[in-house]
Amino acid sequence: MTTFTDLQISREIIRAMDDMGWVEPTPVQAAVIPEGLKGGDLFAQAQTGTGKTGTYGSIVLGRTKAGARLPSTLVLVPTRELAIQVSEELDRLSAFTGHRCVPIYGGVGIEAQATKLRKGVDMVVATPGRTRDLLDRKDLDLSRISIVVLDEADRMLDMGFARDLNYILSRVPKRRQTMLFSATMSSDIRKLAMAQMVDPQEILVSRDEPVLDLTRQCLVIAEKGVKNDALTTILDKGQPKAIVFCNAKYRADRLAKRLAAHGYLAGTIHGNVAQNKRERVLRGFKEGSIRVLVATDVAARGLDIENVDLVVNFDVPNDPDTYIHRIGRTGRAGAEGTAISFFMPDELPLIRDFEKRTGKPIETMELEIVRKPEPEVRRPAQYARREASRPPRTGGGGPARGNETQPRKRGPAKQGRQAGKGRPHASSGRRGARD
Ligand code: AMP
Repeated sequence: MTTFTDLQISREIIRAMDDMGWVEPTPVQAAVIPEGLKGGDLFAQAQTGTGKTGTYGSIVLGRTKAGARLPSTLVLVPTRELAIQVSEELDRLSAFTGHRCVPIYGGVGIEAQATKLRKGVDMVVATPGRTRDLLDRKDLDLSRISIVVLDEADRMLDMGFARDLNYILSRVPKRRQTMLFSATMSSDIRKLAMAQMVDPQEILVSRDEPVLDLTRQCLVIAEKGVKNDALTTILDKGQPKAIVFCNAKYRADRLAKRLAAHGYLAGTIHGNVAQNKRERVLRGFKEGSIRVLVATDVAARGLDIENVDLVVNFDVPNDPDTYIHRIGRTGRAGAEGTAISFFMPDELPLIRDFEKRTGKPIETMELEIVRKPEPEVRRPAQYARREASRPPRTGGGGPARGNETQPRKRGPAKQGRQAGKGRPHASSGRRGARD
């Protein structure tokens, strides 16, 4: 068995790892740390949740001195959440080395970040947009950078940061070590690697496969208008800690409001939620005051949240990569997890692509859907007055639009509607003769 000592990691770092409960290196760490400590450029294909941060953290802390005024390390990450998460992990790893780390990201005041940078910092963990802003304001000086880490480089390119990356890297000394981590190795990633690195070593640790061994994948065939009730039926069984994915910000908002109105501890994160609120929601979810996190794909990659029992694809993702990243939020670190996807009948052909991507079958779940009446959504006084002057709505309820939250005709809740009953997905005409 390889130990951290075998990897030439210093005593201070091993002590911090010990405090974090790390006993032995992960495969990514065992493969990449010795190469990285040699100082050459490298690009590693490794998925999230495999100990990537500890990998480049150990290299950075081993190869740079603490206590400089200007930063010696720049870690670029795609999202604000990841910037915070990575910087917290680097803080823990550097508990005994004295390195200081500052996260910089948009959506919060720039001045406080500029002040922190002026006080002196060793490592900057940053999103590309805010990095540019701070560079343009001359609050960030990258002239002493000796190590650059591009974390989740594929995601950064997907999010359209290519130009920002080129701009930022043009401000960093050419003599440096560059390490690129990416879950996938597309031709764009290779182009970026070739443009920004010198003779990089390629290390393939694992394919882009979140570990799905302990994740049960299921689907519910959700006919029009049953998704809300299907979700609450599932949530009522065992009160899981769950992430529910929607394909649009307004859908996530609407769903979270509806769940909250029904008494679920729900919160939402997506690109339009103010940064401080996102952080609060995420903290609440990690600590347990929020049990159902309704999210768009901003939360699908990179975030490492422990003990997520369930992922629900309230809206089916558009492509297999997004699917695997979403469901990879559960079944982590040796825990079991369940991923349930709501497929509208016309989306069933996607199942085969998802199964191909994960290499695992997706079972059809027979779900006795329990209908809940539309929740009373409390409305601000001015709306209430306006409403009073309108003809009454048939279904009552909130400001719903679209199928899923369309108020239904009043009447006794239908008990025991069965989604998918009598139409297992494999026999759907569109799916062909798979079975
Ligand atoms: P990452 O891939 O960096 O997001 O790491 C995923 C999770 O694994 C984080 O919670 C890390 O703290 C944890 N981790 C990283 N390396 C190790 C290790 N060698 N042993 C145990 N846990 C680890």
